[in-house]
Amino acid sequence: QVVNIYSARHYSTDQALYDNFTKETGIVVRRIDGREDELVERIRSEGAASPADILITVDASRLFAADRMGLFAPLQSAVLQSRVPAHLRTPNWIAFSTRARVIVYDKARVDRAAVSTYESLADPKLKGQVCVRSGAHPYNLSLGAAMIAHAGEAATEQWARGLVANFARAPKGGDTDQIKAVAAGECGVAIVNSYYLARLMRSRTPEDQKTMAAVGTVWPNQQSWGTHVNVSGAGILKTAPNKANAIRFLEYLASDQAQVYFADGNNEWPVVTTVKVQNPALDAMGPWKADASPIERWSPLTADAQKVFDRAGWR
Ligand code: FE
Repeated sequence: QVVNIYSARHYSTDQALYDNFTKETGIVVRRIDGREDELVERIRSEGAASPADILITVDASRLFAADRMGLFAPLQSAVLQSRVPAHLRTPNWIAFSTRARVIVYDKARVDRAAVSTYESLADPKLKGQVCVRSGAHPYNLSLGAAMIAHAGEAATEQWARGLVANFARAPKGGDTDQIKAVAAGECGVAIVNSYYLARLMRSRTPEDQKTMAAVGTVWPNQQSWGTHVNVSGAGILKTAPNKANAIRFLEYLASDQAQVYFADGNNEWPVVTTVKVQNPALDAMGPWKADASPIERWSPLTADAQKVFDRAGWR
């Protein structure tokens, strides 16, 4: 009895997650770790002969893209339907943990009230202050897709143009680089995923502690549609040779025990609302209002978001 998992997630606690499943079910987990695009390419080139049962990856736009390529089979599981909230699943793939796209700002230079929404970052008052990674990155495409769902394509394009006009520098680096650039005074404000902040909050190095002391965090859009939430998730492949075991594994990921490992491994929030994570960094972030619009509705808009960002010059 085996289940073959292709995973673009690789955190230290994930090993315990897999070991527990084997202990509970006797099903051996064979895992191939890789970059998302490499794994998808591998599944496509292996075709019908692929040993892959499950693809685990991060970001709704990537899960949507894999689904659009026709890689996933319909998910039929009463357990998953009852455990995972409806807005965090689609017919063919499902979320297991969530991360928020938040705003960080230089506490010494920027007024918190001036950066309380994603929209506010396009205000000309912030000219030369905004740092954010490439507009081609899935994290930003997902944010753009959510914004299109709420405000429409024209308003999102106008926003992106304003954002680009406010850039402190051409987009470069990952989210952690943006946080460090804010702390260093190179940028006044940036958009980043919550777990990068949690990672720095939990770090013991004096450099990281200095970084976190310099920046403030804002939960964007608390008075409107809520902070944009992205996911880490999975789907079962159409060609899966061990479908029944694959379903059991996904149901296991939605169990109380696995939810804690799965989410805490990357400082994320579990999708199962009754599960409590013991994570001081997440606790410190406090309560906040998440955008609860269905992922099935906004994730297909990531392709439109790319066109909008291209037109706006967000490279
Ligand atoms: Fe990331």
